[in-house]
Amino acid sequence: MEKNYHINTNCVQAGYSPKNGEPRVLPIVQSTTYKYESSEQMGRLFDLEENGYFYTRLQNPTNDAVAARITALEGGVAGMLTSSGQAANFYAVFNIASAGDHIVSSAAIYGGTFNLFSVTMKKLGIDFTFVRPDVSEEELNAAFRPNTKAVFAETLSNPSLDVLDIEKFARAAHAHGVPLIVDNTFPTPINCRPFQFGADIVTHSTTKYMDGHATSVGGAIIDSGNFDWTQNDKFPGLTTPDESYHGITYTERFGKGAYITKATAQLMRDLGSIPSPHNAFLLGLGLETLALRVQRHCENAQKVAEFLEAHEKVAWVDYPGLPSSRGYALAQKYMPHGTSGVISFGVKGGREAATRFMDHLELAAIVTHVADARTCVLHPASTTHRQLTDAQLEEAGVGPDLIRLSVGIEYVDDIISDLQQALEQA
Ligand SMILES: *Cc1c(COP(=O)(O)O)cnc(C)c1O
Repeated sequence: MEKNYHINTNCVQAGYSPKNGEPRVLPIVQSTTYKYESSEQMGRLFDLEENGYFYTRLQNPTNDAVAARITALEGGVAGMLTSSGQAANFYAVFNIASAGDHIVSSAAIYGGTFNLFSVTMKKLGIDFTFVRPDVSEEELNAAFRPNTKAVFAETLSNPSLDVLDIEKFARAAHAHGVPLIVDNTFPTPINCRPFQFGADIVTHSTTKYMDGHATSVGGAIIDSGNFDWTQNDKFPGLTTPDESYHGITYTERFGKGAYITKATAQLMRDLGSIPSPHNAFLLGLGLETLALRVQRHCENAQKVAEFLEAHEKVAWVDYPGLPSSRGYALAQKYMPHGTSGVISFGVKGGREAATRFMDHLELAAIVTHVADARTCVLHPASTTHRQLTDAQLEEAGVGPDLIRLSVGIEYVDDIISDLQQALEQA
């Protein structure tokens, strides 16, 4: 039913359709466990022969309803929630790569994801080659190896705001028989639906716009169902029997649901990064207003970016909604209705002026967050990206003077007045 409705309607209603006499609002099933009348029936659940709930580490009705809503928004066939965006990106890659494998990743990615890949997953024996998002097709193709299992990138990178040429990355991935995984946290499916451009798997930090109110850390993984895992022998975890599940072969048993079923049955079972049903409920509530909020974030950010660009104390502004921005042309193609509420800019006078500016803000708060209802600012080089060397900062597109401004949904004139007075004192 859900696919026939506009995305704005699916934000409000998809994923939960109560029957006669059932609660109108998605119930919080705050239960770790589920009762059955025979142990034989429960055994069939354990063998994945029957659908049903048995333990919340694997599945929970509240979580599943919210995952189904996000799946509908992205236009995918199957989805799951995780307890954080970090867990989502880890699962999304680890589900199809193990020791000895290799991944091609955009270098313009969230600092936490960069550490996850270049430090922690490297310790697990998975190698990464990082490429600039504006890499030529030739150079991109040259990054692949025989053991490459996926390509990873962010559709709109945090915090460098590179707009991904999704079709270029999808073409290269598919030419080498591997899927394109994209983190679509910043645009959200309201502004960009990567499956339409050839991406195969989408991940989210739902902590950001999806929750939208900065109440709950969370993540999601959505499968388009479009990638054929059986086209080559690169994905034995999906196409050969899983001994930890009585010899089930995921692609045979679950078809287009294979990837998400494996991530749930194997990774969630063993690693356990499940969100609490209460957090999933809050996420579901946030999703109801996602379309409204994203639209306001973008309208406000456009005005703020134009204000900053005209201000004499501002050295540079990068917002893909500005014609002067390097991401403008790609944004027009992939995110024509808006990118996000996030702007990066530099204040004249470098690092010190940036700090003075931030310390004088009154309405906008300094927080380690981005993409929620309240306007906030962050200096990535001294916070989220402080583990990175100057060379790595450069490669990730995060200069030492970069201020990340996350424009909220307050009245825009109040946001601009606050920036104005702080700039005067910078
Ligand atoms: C915040 C963020 C993450 C990490 O998500 P958490 O929910 O904080 O674990 C991953 N990717 C992007 C693009 C992010 O902005």
